[in-house]
Amino acid sequence: MPPPLNRVMAGGPGDLLRRRASSRNLQLLRRFLAVFLLIVTVSTLLFHLIMGMEGQEHDFITGVYWTISTMTTLGLGDIVFTGAAGRVLTLSVVLSGIVYFLIFIPFMLIRLFQSVERAPRDLPAGTRGHIVLIDADVVTKALIRKLDQFSYPYVIIVEDTGRGLQLHDEGYHVLIGELDSVETFRRARVDTALMVALTATDELNTSMALKIREAHPHVPIVATARALASGDILVHAGCTRILPLSELLGQSLSRRTLGGDAMTHVIGHFDTLLIAEATVSGTPLVNKTLRESNLRNMTGLTVLGTWERGVYRGAEADRVLTDNTILVLAGSRQQLKTYDELFCIYHISEAPVIIIGGGSVGRAAGADLHERGMTYRLIDLHPHADVPDESFIRGDATDQAVLVRAGINDTHSVIITTNDDATNVYLTILCRKVRPDLKIVSRATAETSVQTLHQAGADFVMSYASMGANFMLNMLRGGNILMIAEGLDVFRIAIPETLEGKTIAAAGIFERTGCIVVAFEHEATMEINPPPDSAIPASGKIILIGSAEAEELFLRTYPPGG
Ligand code: AMP
Repeated sequence: MPPPLNRVMAGGPGDLLRRRASSRNLQLLRRFLAVFLLIVTVSTLLFHLIMGMEGQEHDFITGVYWTISTMTTLGLGDIVFTGAAGRVLTLSVVLSGIVYFLIFIPFMLIRLFQSVERAPRDLPAGTRGHIVLIDADVVTKALIRKLDQFSYPYVIIVEDTGRGLQLHDEGYHVLIGELDSVETFRRARVDTALMVALTATDELNTSMALKIREAHPHVPIVATARALASGDILVHAGCTRILPLSELLGQSLSRRTLGGDAMTHVIGHFDTLLIAEATVSGTPLVNKTLRESNLRNMTGLTVLGTWERGVYRGAEADRVLTDNTILVLAGSRQQLKTYDELFCIYHISEAPVIIIGGGSVGRAAGADLHERGMTYRLIDLHPHADVPDESFIRGDATDQAVLVRAGINDTHSVIITTNDDATNVYLTILCRKVRPDLKIVSRATAETSVQTLHQAGADFVMSYASMGANFMLNMLRGGNILMIAEGLDVFRIAIPETLEGKTIAAAGIFERTGCIVVAFEHEATMEINPPPDSAIPASGKIILIGSAEAEELFLRTYPPGG
């Protein structure tokens, strides 16, 4: 969720002061004040101690008065020490005053003015083809990583100068400006931008969309929407595309939940090429190697890789399939049908899937499971009117008795989707402990929790951050990315010139980048899983599967258009 966007008043000296009082500068001010108070306190205490030794009595206020007048080198001479110790103290206080007022204070003022100077407030003339982003929440940051990967220029508009400078120092491209001002969007040059992405609250997104439309009537605006009902309002305000992130995340978690059978489940597609997953457990494939499984000959499908407890591996022929293996398959609808006909006889369980967390994401996951003909039980702390009684268990899922009541001992899969990453990690460990063989699909809000959830025992993890980022990037790139799981994408790009005419093996795509070639698209035909000695077509598209790092390495090794 985006952090609150603090308001900054524009214009006038008040504006300047407020901007200067950014969080970083405030911290600096606080430190200087603390040093000042420390010097005054210590000096005053020493003043009283030494004056006492000299037989002079002064009250507290006089001590503070002496210290500050000495520090500021006023030297009024109305209160003086007579002994050596007192004179040494006087000299020390004078010196500390000189250092503090003549060195520290000017340094701080320079820092404050520099900060205000450094804050970028508009983009250079001629900027075009950039993406305009709002603040830097988890989705924005994940999107920026992707934009950098594909070399899209971007700018983030931030209201608070301190926050903007911090992001600027972290290497982000920032523009400081009010988010409810048309002028800010003009300065961000939305008229020549490729897209504006709004990731704040539904209300703020609506008001920003109206301002952007005032600045330019046609720039594409994509906005995230928390409430489904906000969609219409955002469109009315001028948004071109709405991303109901909770809905999308719920659907995506549901799609990762394989049914209680061994059939294929489509998780995405590139035109006629379908990408699907199927669980091996309960079928004769268990304990066979991929070569022995003979799936290619039997079904025509290509095994792209395998999942084993959240770890994805490429499809090496001698990989042994286990009870925990999930196959990632690519092929046509007909080939998937052939697979299903062979394996539909293997039923693992028909028990309802358990969904922990019945908020917007959990309910969207439930609706999607229902659409796919699967039953579910939903656990939540609070009742929800739109969930049928027979599907709802009220309680705290961290209580094992609640999990048992929901049917954890019988189910084959659980979707963990509370709104708190730490709770999701705890629940993942708990469910894994109760049922080591369970398929666990977990939700993360921050990308940083993904690894922890995998370590806790989740088979699949989906985060708000990368879901949102992938959807937005897909809008820019015309639907050419399919997120298989966190950090693993199937992506389609134009064949780089440097690859044309070489074979896959000679080009060393996997060795050099870690990406596996899934298919070539050439003159309206799709060549799925081409063998290593196939020549890469002179034109068309290449579809690859790889981790985020592998994808990035591929784009660097074979730059688009290069
Ligand atoms: P949302 O972010 O809209 O998907 O909502 C998350 C849901 O998770 C809320 O409805 C919470 O009540 C629910 N939730 C949070 N912690 C727990 C828990 N320990 N057990 C069951 N439900 C929970």
